[in-house]
Amino acid sequence: MTRGRDDSPIVVLEHVSRRYDDLAAVWDVGLSVSAGEVLCLLGPSGCGKTTTLRMVAGVERPDSGRIFIEGVEVDSEDCFVPPERRNIGLMFQDHALFPHMSVVENVAFGLRGMNASERREKALRGLERVDMRAAADFYPDRLSGGEQQRVALARALAPGPGVMLMDEPFSGLDKRLRDSIRDDTLTLLKSIGACSLLVTHDPEEAMRMGDKIALMRRGRLLQLGSPEDMYYRPVDAEVAFFFSDFNEIRGVVKQGLIATPFGSIGPRERFNESQEVCVLVRQEAFGLAGGEGRICVRARVWRARLLGSDSLIEFRLGEGEELFRARLPGITLPAQGDWLDLYFDPAKVLVFA
Ligand code: ATP
Repeated sequence: MTRGRDDSPIVVLEHVSRRYDDLAAVWDVGLSVSAGEVLCLLGPSGCGKTTTLRMVAGVERPDSGRIFIEGVEVDSEDCFVPPERRNIGLMFQDHALFPHMSVVENVAFGLRGMNASERREKALRGLERVDMRAAADFYPDRLSGGEQQRVALARALAPGPGVMLMDEPFSGLDKRLRDSIRDDTLTLLKSIGACSLLVTHDPEEAMRMGDKIALMRRGRLLQLGSPEDMYYRPVDAEVAFFFSDFNEIRGVVKQGLIATPFGSIGPRERFNESQEVCVLVRQEAFGLAGGEGRICVRARVWRARLLGSDSLIEFRLGEGEELFRARLPGITLPAQGDWLDLYFDPAKVLVFA
């Protein structure tokens, strides 16, 4: 089933909470996901991502709050629609293909209301979408982890679910395979217009896959927004640190400016005179001097390491002073004790009360 993308919410959670004894595993969570949209539930281990997903699936019930799928109330104090009637597809880290069934039988398994040859035809078309048609008659143990994950995706999508629920589906794959399967999965989800919820603890994966990110901690939703919101407009320092590495500086507002070791900065936000603030300076805020009209500092190198496409320079501004980190593009590997002239871009700074 192909759906056009519109803004009507397909999955809606209102004030959803779930306790296990004394633990509020999920607390007062509200969110909505539209057709064609991918929402990533992101956060550290134990923050309530899986419990939230399981409540949408209907395999776990909230203690309070309401859940709607495609405009129908599926869980609240007054009603409960069981998982098999929620029109959802599920995909987990352990792809859990049936070992005694061939690939095509696995994909055909959840198809209802058609005869055997129609089911096989539909399953084969599903396998074609994930580039696995050639393996239709193999058994799962002949497939690599990535191939099994593609088949699991085809199986989840075969009945044409309106909602795809995925729990860390790529975490068992090695990095290169993970990147390509992530991209293929996203393209496929977008092409069929499914509304998707994806659980991940990896901020990069959430930025890459998500139209929206719901960042959770200890059962609570810290921020819900686009990847750009989370990166450029985090609601507090905790959210900021989840997505980026920063140098943290304490400062005081004087005449609208904050003095930092890299010069005075004028925050975009309004702060009171003499208010204490936390200044977060992105590691990417620094560059090798040469940029016009920017603040420059002399940095004494403590350590330099190559991180791949960037170099990480740890430096101090003077003997015994605080250690800062700069991430410079390309290969810059000065020796310990060298002096570097760095420019500093005050736009790459966040300030919080
Ligand atoms: P992870 O990334 O490690 O899977 P998560 O963010 O998905 O973590 P949940 O699995 O939702 O977290 O668990 C949230 C909290 O609820 C955890 O502290 C967990 O131990 C607890 N919890 C989850 N399921 C149960 C259960 N059936 N009984 C008791 N406690 C549970």
